[in-house]
Amino acid sequence: MLRVIFGGTFDPIHNGHVQTSLAAFRLLKADHMQVMPSAQPPHRDYPGATPEQRLAMVRLAYAAHADIVAENWELERERPSYSLLTLQEMRATWPQDQLIFLLGNDAFAKLDSWHGWQQLLDVAHLAVMQRPHETSSWSEGVRQLAARHQVDNVQELHDRPAGCMICLPTPEIEVSATLLRDRIAASGAWEQFVPEAVAAYIKQQQLYQTD
Ligand code: ATP
Repeated sequence: MLRVIFGGTFDPIHNGHVQTSLAAFRLLKADHMQVMPSAQPPHRDYPGATPEQRLAMVRLAYAAHADIVAENWELERERPSYSLLTLQEMRATWPQDQLIFLLGNDAFAKLDSWHGWQQLLDVAHLAVMQRPHETSSWSEGVRQLAARHQVDNVQELHDRPAGCMICLPTPEIEVSATLLRDRIAASGAWEQFVPEAVAAYIKQQQLYQTD
């Protein structure tokens, strides 16, 4: 079984996350996707949603897709929120499955600043979503990792449990969670950037408002 794991802060989840991850899911011909909010960043300077609210929004965003689930793996564990630890635990849980960690090119470009980044490919594949106008350039360590592990054909990810990196062309959806939080706080237009059910939840819970 080919499992995709898509992590992020998702504060809030938006159409950029949903549409690009669905495009990647189809390109990968995956069986299952777990969308996993990361634990609360230790310090931040904006009024964010709670981990439970971020998880609830992820659940609403993918409600129409039976093979995609909101995952509280990182939220329920009392340990640092490192992707490597999560993927190692998932590897132990599903020893036979292919695991694919899905991330945007901006995140991949600085992968060598992550805890234990060189071990990530021991336990999972990496799939990097590349949007047409995304310009983040890879650091030297990331370039070397790509030189060793990059493949062009999705089939290679189906043939082994871990160890490949692939770039996937995904659509450009101009939105970020930062833009959304700013718009909501400033009473600007924002609802078109999130799935309808997420917009309703944000209003009902009165999230991201400053007053
Ligand atoms: P923030 O603005 O708070 O930094 P964000 O919108 O970038 O948040 P994250 O939760 O940090 O969202 O992102 C999770 C993952 O989704 C990352 O791998 C990131 O590259 C990717 N991503 C973020 N925005 C988009 C978008 N518009 N289209 C496609 N992928 C995106």
